[in-house]
Amino acid sequence: MSGVETGALPGEGRSPRTLRALSRIPISVLASVPPRKEAQLRQWGVSSVLDLLTTYPRKNRYIDRTVRSSVSDLSVGEAAAVLATVGRVQSRPGRNRRAMVTLTVRDDSGALQVVFFNQPWRAKQLAVGTEAIFWGKVGEYRGSRQLVNPVVDVVAGIDESGGPGVGRHRRTMRILPVYPASAKAGLTSWEVGAFVEEALERAGELADPLPPGVRASLGLCGRTEAFRDIHEPDSLSAVGPARRRLVFDELFRLQMAVAQRRREFEDSSRAFHHEVSVLEVTGTTSAREGQAVLGGETLVARFLAGLPFSLTQAQRRALAQIVADMRGPVPMHRLLQGDVGSGKTVVALAALLGAVQSGHQGALMVPTEVLAEQHTSAVTSLLGPLAQEVRVELLTSRVKGKARGLVLNRLGSGAAKIVVGTHALLSEGVQFASLGLVVIDEQHRFGVEQRATLREKGEGDPDLLVMTATPIPRTAAMLFFGDLDETVLDEMPAGRIPITTTWLRGDDEAPAAWARVREEVAAGRRAFVVCPLVGESLRVQAKSATEEQARLVEGELAGLEVGLLHGQMPASERETVMERFRAGEVQVLVTTTVIEVGVDVPEATVMVIESADRFGIAQLHQLRGRVGRGHWPSWCYLLGPSVEGTGAGGGSAPASALMSDDSTSATERLAAVARTTDGFELAEEDLRLRGAGTLMGSRQIGRTDLQLADLSSKEDRALLVEARRIAEDIVRRDPRLADHALLADEVDLFMTMREDEGEFLFKS
Ligand code: ADP
Ligand code: MG
Repeated sequence: MSGVETGALPGEGRSPRTLRALSRIPISVLASVPPRKEAQLRQWGVSSVLDLLTTYPRKNRYIDRTVRSSVSDLSVGEAAAVLATVGRVQSRPGRNRRAMVTLTVRDDSGALQVVFFNQPWRAKQLAVGTEAIFWGKVGEYRGSRQLVNPVVDVVAGIDESGGPGVGRHRRTMRILPVYPASAKAGLTSWEVGAFVEEALERAGELADPLPPGVRASLGLCGRTEAFRDIHEPDSLSAVGPARRRLVFDELFRLQMAVAQRRREFEDSSRAFHHEVSVLEVTGTTSAREGQAVLGGETLVARFLAGLPFSLTQAQRRALAQIVADMRGPVPMHRLLQGDVGSGKTVVALAALLGAVQSGHQGALMVPTEVLAEQHTSAVTSLLGPLAQEVRVELLTSRVKGKARGLVLNRLGSGAAKIVVGTHALLSEGVQFASLGLVVIDEQHRFGVEQRATLREKGEGDPDLLVMTATPIPRTAAMLFFGDLDETVLDEMPAGRIPITTTWLRGDDEAPAAWARVREEVAAGRRAFVVCPLVGESLRVQAKSATEEQARLVEGELAGLEVGLLHGQMPASERETVMERFRAGEVQVLVTTTVIEVGVDVPEATVMVIESADRFGIAQLHQLRGRVGRGHWPSWCYLLGPSVEGTGAGGGSAPASALMSDDSTSATERLAAVARTTDGFELAEEDLRLRGAGTLMGSRQIGRTDLQLADLSSKEDRALLVEARRIAEDIVRRDPRLADHALLADEVDLFMTMREDEGEFLFKS
């Protein structure tokens, strides 16, 4: 191809093109993109040739039209493509289906009828003598075989009445990709395909930033080939390798960015050197021994010695890693993973005390005010007699006026050593004497901006420890917490009594749950009833909980003391009801998901989750973690819809699930949660069912990041692990990427693109 319009794209002539160069070429350059379509593409988020090339066909959605038959071979009911020449054309004018064009087409083997309804222009397009490929399902009419409204590619005698681009875009005798068409933007898959085809053809050879050694060791194909084969494979077997290469590129760019940003941060950071010895936290096998070894002099040692239990091996290991970081030359940046109830709080508190004994302060940041209040009392009680000395403050937006002023003063002067709070901790006016460690509990939204804010609040870069609410699979952690080192608490404290989980299907089975509630309450224990998720709005949820409480008091739970807890209640009221629940004056607590995290009432032994099919796996697991915290056996009941003969389609359809697209996965979710209490196993299952995209909610990765990679695929997960390893290796050996200029530029390109799209830990 040559000529001004359809020749090579503008740019640096014959040398291989970089993705950055392609990102600078507007789609208006393409002949196949008319101005109207250009506007639609832009509206759809596609404005450069790079955008177009990275608009990939849908996964596994290719139509194989490579099979060509001769006319005599065609049998009725089969889909086929024939290359034939138009022999006769009959046209019946009219509107809609009345307009009919009948062709007789023939090849060497015989003749066939082709009928078009409502396409009067076909008479002109397919004039006698035109050679074309007809693709369709062979039908029969009055004893002769015919194709009705087949897809047509004109091979010779080209007529472009199909519109520019689309007319040229060959749709038969090839493997045809199906693109994510957008009805809203007015774009069809075929149009997108035509645009991509031209872009690909004119882009020519692409530069490959991947070191050849890496490519070879992973058996990855070249970049030019990858883009060609994902868009225009010669055979279906070419798609897999192409996809694999492009998936790797996506993951690799991210991991490169993570590794680089991390190195930059460490270069510029001012770390605290905390004085806490690894021996303090590992050299002990029991609390008493610990005291003997250390003479009980440091805060950390005294804290551990004073606990009513000894740490699990996993807790010790975790603390040893944390402490090593805290003593180290760069600020700690660590993720602490552990299942619900694995004892993360104790570990975090010991670390906070490590900062305190080094003359600094520690902050524990949690996502909600309820949790902040809860953690303040939990921390205070874990500290026991040390609480006097350490002085734990609470800071949320509810702490106002004079009380707030006092808290701020004590933080500023250093009189207060540990503060528990919400994002209010980051607000203006909060200053620390010396903030040495920040622990972020149960939350995923903490970005670099917040880290920068923290930097301003003290005299250096505080150490950072992030704790997850429930486990997330290692690969997902790499993606979403890529810049954090990881510590896993893979052991539960001994003596935990198992929680029996039962999925109760439909109204017939639900009474079993209420009977258990009554039984346990009669034995002096307590129960939670979690109300259905009825929408995003907290107000609506509160209303539904209120109504459910009223209903239960009149019905299933008549005669019991039933309390209500939801996020819309004033703090004082919530505290009161929690107090009464702890004390046993309230026997059953009807709540929204505000109790999802952190609530610790050992006497609570029953949890009833209504419309459990509306919750995600992680949420169910987290909710269930609110029971089984004492010395008694516990039960969790998942109330779900009745599903008769799963998949047979007979049963009543479940209410539309908020967390999923279909009832099949609701079934799988409930089955998984009922099957195991192992949070790590559930996390894998969740990943399998949902993929990574939705796993982390608001930390979802942007459009430009992961178009193809899918962590629910085992192969992609393996590529992620490789991408991480290789990125770290490259950055270690070539920190400034001096020898990897092309790669550095590409990473930079993609990371700039994503910056408008959200907050990420490693955004600079
Ligand atoms: P997580 O935050 O990981 O869900 P917590 O830190 O809230 O777990 O711990 C759950 C409960 O287990 C708390 O009551 C805590 O005091 C207790 N606990 C923590 N570590 C141990 C241990 N090593 N042995 C016994 N109980 C422990
Ligand atoms: Mg906790």
